[in-house]
Amino acid sequence: MSKGNIGVTSDNIFPVIKKFLYSDHEIFLRELISNAVDATQKLKTLSSVGEVKGDLGDTRVRVIINKEKKTLTVSDHGIGMTAEEVDRYINQIAFSGAEEFVNKYKDHTEAIIGHFGLGFYSAFMVSKKVEIFSLSYQDDAKAVHWSCEGSPEYQMEDTIKAERGTDIVLHIDDEFAQYLEDATIEGLLKKYCKFLPVEIAFGKKKEWKDGKQVETDEENIINDTTPAWTRKPADLKDEDYDKFYHELYPTQMDEPLFHIHLNVDYPFHLTGILYFPKIKTNLDVHRNKIQLYCNQVYVTDEVENIVPEYLTLLHGVIDSPDIPLNVSRSYLQSDNNVKKISGYITKKVADKLAEMFKNDRENFEKKWDDIKLFIQFGMLTDEKFYEKAVGFALLKNLEGKYFTLDEYKDKIKDAQTDKDGNLVILYTQNADANYTYIERAKAKGYDVLLQNGELDVHAMSQAEQKAEGNKLRFVRVDSDTIENIIRKDDAVKDNYSDEQKEGLRKAVEAIIPEADKLNYYVSCEAAATDALPVFLTQNEFMRRMKEMSAHQQGMSFYGQMPDNYTIVLNTSHPLIQDLISKMTSEQVSKEVEKKAEKDGEAPTKETVVETVYTLKGEDERIKQLIDIALLASGKLKGEALAKFVNRSVELL
Ligand code: ADP
Repeated sequence: MSKGNIGVTSDNIFPVIKKFLYSDHEIFLRELISNAVDATQKLKTLSSVGEVKGDLGDTRVRVIINKEKKTLTVSDHGIGMTAEEVDRYINQIAFSGAEEFVNKYKDHTEAIIGHFGLGFYSAFMVSKKVEIFSLSYQDDAKAVHWSCEGSPEYQMEDTIKAERGTDIVLHIDDEFAQYLEDATIEGLLKKYCKFLPVEIAFGKKKEWKDGKQVETDEENIINDTTPAWTRKPADLKDEDYDKFYHELYPTQMDEPLFHIHLNVDYPFHLTGILYFPKIKTNLDVHRNKIQLYCNQVYVTDEVENIVPEYLTLLHGVIDSPDIPLNVSRSYLQSDNNVKKISGYITKKVADKLAEMFKNDRENFEKKWDDIKLFIQFGMLTDEKFYEKAVGFALLKNLEGKYFTLDEYKDKIKDAQTDKDGNLVILYTQNADANYTYIERAKAKGYDVLLQNGELDVHAMSQAEQKAEGNKLRFVRVDSDTIENIIRKDDAVKDNYSDEQKEGLRKAVEAIIPEADKLNYYVSCEAAATDALPVFLTQNEFMRRMKEMSAHQQGMSFYGQMPDNYTIVLNTSHPLIQDLISKMTSEQVSKEVEKKAEKDGEAPTKETVVETVYTLKGEDERIKQLIDIALLASGKLKGEALAKFVNRSVELL
């Protein structure tokens, strides 16, 4: 038997391990199983080049709990270690300035583990004693037994071990008794080891018999050793990809929309499968995340800095030994490999979408409504993606037809170019609410898009900014009279002077109900004769700013602003013409002045209202008109609505 001190410069490495790695102590199991898998893989490699002769026999890795002895054993049939190797790899861990290092990285436990060969030592996070029993594959090797009780002192001696490979026996600390529970261990194995390349056995398979679960003779294999992403796309059918999707996310019921198989060798290694999920509610978005693996070992599902943000909404796996896992997040962002990986994924996703669009447009259109959010998010946040996606991002019109922006521009350019050469794209966010406006637009031969997606407002602003010479505008159908939205040379004008119109304008303004956070302006416009006499419009710019502010920080200023509407009096309509003639500015002013004089004070809003009421008894008609405009836009509510209904009944 030999004794010695573990070659760490600091004497108190063990307390340090326990203390600083406390938060993440469950990863010890991943570390030990990874070592066992590595040793098994090495053996297979040696065998394939003829260095190990004969049949390899059983190569499963086993995890065994012994509740009486309070031990957890990870056992493999890999290459094993000679005494000399245990001394080299375990006793003299290549680690200097341990304490300094641990202190520096105490917030990044992952940085310590793995990176500096501390993987094995993580066993001490949960054990009071760790033993190694190992028999090397080498001819005439002697089995070795090593043990250590959580101090830098270890013991090493020859032992007898029949089978090649290594058993790591953990004597679990009382305070970590949960690691002696089957359920805990099975949970951890499922989390970290589900797709390891060597079979991991834990206990026996269970089956239902006579209404209860009984153990079978068959070993319970935790993992799928050849998960779909490690296989060749040519060998996989759509069903295989769907099946794997459900393996990854057992609680997910829906089938994914489609998948993208990633596979690069140069200049970095990366494999994986990304899925476009069907998202039903906002809540779903981040429930299932992309999982990151390193050589089939699960690492994390926090991939924020590796995958571009808009792609973190996707599902699937990424496996790369080239992603530096053991560094801080901020470092990841600046890492060149990571940047390349992120760029590659963007390109691959864009190429796949472009290919689907080109080869099977019908199918692509069917999926568009579901994938639109991802694509717009990508276009808004990633210039490279924008450049590719602009060729397949679609717009949908009210007839349910899909167009790329270029196709659509082409379709509408003759009818919807205004007198200044601006191409005006009309849209609605709610076809029911905008019904009358849409009818007006259609009557002019214009087309209307349905833009009711979460990011549509942003996407439209982006398209406007990118348009050549800024000659493209998206305008909601109810933002003005259709004649004003797309101004033409032959636009109708009314023959009234401003003076003439001012009277009615004032009269209407005086009667408008006051509402919280709502501002109404009144304007006289010459719309078509067959358009409504009064209607409400809402300025495109202000409305859009408000909508955009809902998503963006620092724009809450717009969110606070009241909603501004314009009540448009259509001077081409006989009803309005009649009112104007009865209520010229001159008349109104005269009456207001008269009243003010009588009262002996400056005219107030009330004075104007009262004056208007006395004018030709038109107040009821004006009230009715305003209410119709509000009603048509869904703004007439509560008491005002009830009054309108009563007044209408009386009028009848
Ligand atoms: P790392 O795995 O990062 O190299 P570890 O501390 O986990 O660091 O292991 C140190 C070394 O000990 C390994 O590189 C390997 O050579 C050896 N080793 C650990 N576990 C086993 C095992 N189960 N079988 C054979 N060799 C092992």
